[in-house]
Amino acid sequence: MSAPIIRDVRVILTSPGESHIQKRLIVVKVETTEPDLYGLGCATFTQRPLSVRSAIENYLRPLLRGRDPQRIEDLWHLMHVNAYWRSGPVLNNAISGVDMALWDIKGKIAGLPVYQLLGGKCREGVAIYRHAGGRDEAEVVDRVRTFLKEGVRHVRAQIGGYGGHVEPAPAIAASFPGAYYDPAVYAQQTLALFDRLREEFGGELELLHDVHERLPPADAVRFAVEMERFHLFFLEDLFPPEQWAWFARARNLCATPLAMGELFTHPSEWMPLIEGRLIDFIRCHVSAIGGLTPARKLASVCEAFGLRTAWHGPGDVSPVGHAANVHLDLATRNFGVQEWSGFSDVEREMFPGCPETRGGFVFANDRPGLGIDLNEELARKYPCPEGVLVWTQARTPDGAGAYP
Ligand code: MG
Repeated sequence: MSAPIIRDVRVILTSPGESHIQKRLIVVKVETTEPDLYGLGCATFTQRPLSVRSAIENYLRPLLRGRDPQRIEDLWHLMHVNAYWRSGPVLNNAISGVDMALWDIKGKIAGLPVYQLLGGKCREGVAIYRHAGGRDEAEVVDRVRTFLKEGVRHVRAQIGGYGGHVEPAPAIAASFPGAYYDPAVYAQQTLALFDRLREEFGGELELLHDVHERLPPADAVRFAVEMERFHLFFLEDLFPPEQWAWFARARNLCATPLAMGELFTHPSEWMPLIEGRLIDFIRCHVSAIGGLTPARKLASVCEAFGLRTAWHGPGDVSPVGHAANVHLDLATRNFGVQEWSGFSDVEREMFPGCPETRGGFVFANDRPGLGIDLNEELARKYPCPEGVLVWTQARTPDGAGAYP
């Protein structure tokens, strides 16, 4: 094979199986001059898909065509600084789509799965956690029971969605439609839910919970203290990124393990938390920080400070992005747990080679690269809908705008 060069960079948008604005997946395909040698990467930013597409098609594509796809480090830096103003979720997702595709290509050239390029397996399977949500305690308990029967050992429990749910007074809802929650009611209901869960399932089940920035900082500190008795695996997003300095207060008052990071896009956001050992798990969204290249470095920094990884893995990450997470998890010694949403039948058909779950673990296949492909013809049958998100229009009962 002669040395391949980048021939084209293409963007595929798809909303598999459900025409839903919260499932607008962005996959990048980097094609080379070698026939059949290409790579796939995830650039999914479901809230702003067209901005990411434009960043790739209008700016990264002309920057990258004709270059050597094997020089991943150099190309990552080039993409990162080329706009002079750097970082942010749009540009980082665009870079991630290319970055993962370059790792996929390198694996295919080497004839090795990406986890081998990252140092090889530290473990056979990747422990996952699933989401048990419900409108009331009984629904959540049922959901947890189902996961336990499937062999899952880590479960995140939420009642009424993030921050719970309240019906606002009609006069207020009429002026400001949105997703309403009451921070005090949410905290109370959640403590009661965890009492019930420990009563039903005992102490062995690994329980997790996501505060999703829904409490004022002082109330969040008290909540972390009150949750301490449930011995959580971790408590997530206790504060908004803007209020990160409050972690020191929570840290001094309780031993609840803390996880943070899905909204971060720049090292200046995560470094103070890592250096100060203010959190226990780093939870960045790998495509939002720029792909595998920065994520593996972040994992190594965390290892030095005793933190573990728990990469963000919601339903609006493409199967390509989930596969990249799994390869990274397999080769990271300080891996903690992987958030897992599962795939629909349409997703499995559209993305041949999806990682498979057995019991409470997910496994990568051993094909070269990321081991996953895309059926573009099928993807075209599920175009992305347009629309504006409602769940991020969060409000408290008086109608004031709140963190979603
Ligand atoms: Mg979260």
